[in-house]
Parts: sequence; C-alpha cells; structure tokens
Amino acid sequence: MQNAPMHDVVVVGAGLAGLSAARQLTAEGLDVLVLEARDRVAGRNEGAVFRNGVPVELGGQWVGPGQDAVLALIAELGLQTFQVYDAGRSVLRIDGGLRYAEGGAFGLPDTALAEFTRVQELIDDLAAAVDPADPAAGPGAAEQDRVTADAWLRENVRDEAARRFYDIMLATIFAADTCEFSLLHLLFYVRSGGGLVRLMSTIGGAQDSRVLGGTHRISEAMAEQLGPRVRLRCPVRHLEQEEGGVRVHFDGGAVRARRVIVALPPVLAGRLRYSPPLPANRDSLTQQMPAGTVIKFQVAYERPFWRETGFSGTALNLDGHVGLVYDNCPPDASCGVLVAFIEGTHARDAADLTPEQRRQLVLAELAGLFGPEAAEPLDFLERNWSEEEYTRGCYGGRLGTGLWKRLGRSLREPVDRLHWAGAETAEVWNGYMDGAVTSGRRAAAEAAAALAAEPAGSGAVAAGVSTVAGTGSA
Ligand SMILES: Cc1cc2nc3c(=O)[nH]c(=O)nc-3n(C[C@H](O)[C@H](O)[C@H](O)COP(=O)(O)OP(=O)(O)OC[C@H]3O[C@@H](n4cnc5c(N)ncnc54)[C@H](O)[C@@H]3O)c2cc1C
Repeated sequence: MQNAPMHDVVVVGAGLAGLSAARQLTAEGLDVLVLEARDRVAGRNEGAVFRNGVPVELGGQWVGPGQDAVLALIAELGLQTFQVYDAGRSVLRIDGGLRYAEGGAFGLPDTALAEFTRVQELIDDLAAAVDPADPAAGPGAAEQDRVTADAWLRENVRDEAARRFYDIMLATIFAADTCEFSLLHLLFYVRSGGGLVRLMSTIGGAQDSRVLGGTHRISEAMAEQLGPRVRLRCPVRHLEQEEGGVRVHFDGGAVRARRVIVALPPVLAGRLRYSPPLPANRDSLTQQMPAGTVIKFQVAYERPFWRETGFSGTALNLDGHVGLVYDNCPPDASCGVLVAFIEGTHARDAADLTPEQRRQLVLAELAGLFGPEAAEPLDFLERNWSEEEYTRGCYGGRLGTGLWKRLGRSLREPVDRLHWAGAETAEVWNGYMDGAVTSGRRAAAEAAAALAAEPAGSGAVAAGVSTVAGTGSA
C-alpha cells in the first residue's frame, strides 16, 4: 500500500467535468489520473444507436446560445452541431383536448398565456437579482429560501391552466416536482441559465442544437487525448487523507495524489467513504441535494410523419405521464425520431411498470398527441437514470427549502486536499453540460494553484512522473 503510485491530481469520474479538469491540468504539465467507475466515459451523456443505425442520446443532448464553454470545446475537438427541427405547430394537451400553436409557443388559452407571461417576467426579474456565486447572499434570499417553488406558484399564478403549465414545464426543466425545490433554487437556476424563456426554448434557447453523433463524443474525444490517464471500471470507494496527499482506494487497487478532484454529482460524492470524515456541513449537503427523476425515451419511425401535416414534433402534455416531446430526427431526416420525457412523480410511478407496460403507456400518449401512427414505431429505447448505479438520478441535484442558506457554501469549498467539480457546482449553466465543463476547469485551477503554493518537496513527486497507474497493492 505504501508504494501505491503518486500523482499530482487524481480525478474521480470521467464525465464532462472530470475530463475537462484532467485535460486542463495535463495541459499545464501536471501528472493526472482519472478513475471512472463505468466501462465508458461521459457519465450522464450516453450514446445509443437504433437498429437502423441512427445514433441518439439517452442522456444530455442539447446545447444552445450562451453555452460558450461547451460550444467552444465541441469546436475545438473537431465535432459538429446541428440545429433541431422546430417548424410548424406544437401541441398542448390540456383537459382532455388538444390545442395547437405556431412559432415555438404553446397553445395556452389567451388568459392563461397572459398570466404565464406576467409570471415569467416576475421570475426573471427576481432571478436577475440573485448572485449565482452566492445565491444565499441576496436581499430577498432568506424569504425565497424558505418557500418551495410550488408554494410560491400557488400564491402568485392566478390562472389554473397557467399554473399547471408551470408545474409541467418546470418539472421538465428540473426533472423534479415544484414542491421538491425552493423558490431560491428556481431563481438561482433561471439566473444561471440566462432566463426562463431561454431554458424553455428550442431555437435560440437551451434546446437549440445537438452534437452530430451524440454528446458522449465530447467526452470520448477528451478521453482519447488523455489516453492511459483515464482508467475505466475503477469505482472509487474511499478517500483517505494522509501526510502529503490522499490515498484513493478503488475496486482493484489504490493510488495516491497530492490533490483529488471529486467530479461526481453531490449525492454520489456523499456515498464515498472519507478519512477523516467530511466536515458535517459538507456531508449534510450531500445528503440533501438529491438528483431529479427522469425516464427518457427515444422512439424511431420510418419517417417524421408529423412534419407532413405541419407539426413540429414539439408537444407539452398537461394530462398524462409523458410531459414533453420533441422532434429528434437526424439532420437528414432519414427516419423519424421523437424524444419524450417522463419526470418527477410521473417518473416514479412509471418506474414501477414493466418495460412493456411503460412502452405501451408512452406510445399511447404519443398517439394521443400525434395520431395513431405514433403507436407504430420502428424502434424504442428508454433510460431510467435513477436506476443507474453511477448516476442515481438526473438531470442534476437540487436544493429544497432552507438549504441554500444553510449549506450552499459547502458546495464548492475544498476540504483539505479535496476539490469538488460537477455540473451541480457551476455558477453559470448549473446542471447543464456547459456548467459541467466550467466546473471541471474551476476545480482544476483550484487544485493547480494549491499545488503551486505547496512548499517544494511536499507531497511526493513533481509533475511529469509516469501517468500510468498500477493497481497498487491494497
Ligand atoms: C436524460 C438527461 C437529459 C439531459 N439533457 C441535457 C441537455 O439537453 N443539455 C445539457 O446541457 N445537459 C443535459 N443534461 C445534464 C448533463 O448531462 C449533465 O449536466 C452533465 O453531463 C454532467 O456532467 P458531470 O461531469 O458533472 O457529471 P457526470 O456526467 O454524472 O459524471 C460523473 C462521472 O463519475 C462516474 N462515477 C460515479 N461514481 C463514481 C465512483 N465512485 N468512482 C469513479 N467514478 C464514478 C460516473 O460514471 C460518471 O462518468 C441531461 C442529463 C440527463 C440524464
């Protein structure tokens, strides 16, 4: 054990955050090792291929304007993006009926639309006053932290249809019901992503574009560059602080590091063992920042039949389990693809069904939105992210009432030689791929600065020592 290899930095997790951190540190000449639990990189970005050969994304898939870090990274890695299809009428299912609207709007009745817009402006105004670096510090923060988003919406949205629209729309953004996060968390998230309309929108918004071949290729391209510095099938179990470094125990061995970047969602970071134990507030945060609940479906058809009758493929369903649907065809529309989401409570209910029952449920609801052809797919894929051992829920972590104020500061604050990365720690585009990338870079900068500040000879090795870790002897 004493002879376990020593690295400048060990990164736990090869998602966008961990790989971005490793790439930056490697470019600075530091000796980095990334330990990844799964047999693949990319974490919450997972690629899949329909039987007809068309690739789709089971996890994160869209990028959009304002997501400068991830867009620049995509370009730098030689990958391409393409804009989604969103021409024609969208569908809104409400009170057993269907309503249609052009131009990216949903077909809310006029009074509901006016109320939706009034409240959206109110949310955006409140969000603009939130400091994303320290959401708990703002003038209204104490009050906003005390109530759930649900309680606030019930008090402030005066139209029943508009309120139900908010319930479903926000559930699709957070993969959680509005009673599961505080008003302050909602405002922080809206601020972090540049406004509510931007978070909701396709063209010009967070759902503007996709990566050709899938978003997992961003991580794969970074991992290729890092080569043997990335080790798969190495679930980290225990981080043990010792003189001059940290001993990182994983299934199959141990390595040592002068600094460790934990690039995991908080809920999973809380499942590692720490010696000495984490400070109470940091541990408490990991216990109280659960991930959302979402089941994502990709459904392939021979052709995008909805386009032929003037539909965009976008649908919001206020009546059923499937909340949101989008056209997700490949750029050449060589086949039709609809992507559908079940979130929050509906996802918890649907998780209890068999895969076949879930398939029937989703196809019946798609047929209710787009007609009987939607019930006859070529192929059907699903991923329940809460079942994934090394994710345990998506899209990301959220904070309930009272938590930003009491524990928010523990989100990024390093603990001894441990630094925290991951989309949940980002100030800008928190919860999104862009936020994951910048969080990794921020943690890398922290670790590099800490290493540079250490007296010469402390820790064990200088940069440039072998990057290929042995498994060590436990
Ligand atoms: C269904 C879905 C849809 C989404 N849609 C979008 C979208 O359209 N646009 C967008 O920007 N974002 C979207 N997201 C969110 C986005 O995917 C994430 O914010 C981002 O990928 C998070 O990256 P990360 O590196 O912070 O975390 P992760 O990707 O979770 O990376 C953590 C890594 O750590 C590994 N790991 C876990 N435990 C251990 C351990 N003990 N030891 C070693 N390794 C471990 C995991 O396997 C994983 O590879 C979506 C997510 C999901 C699931």
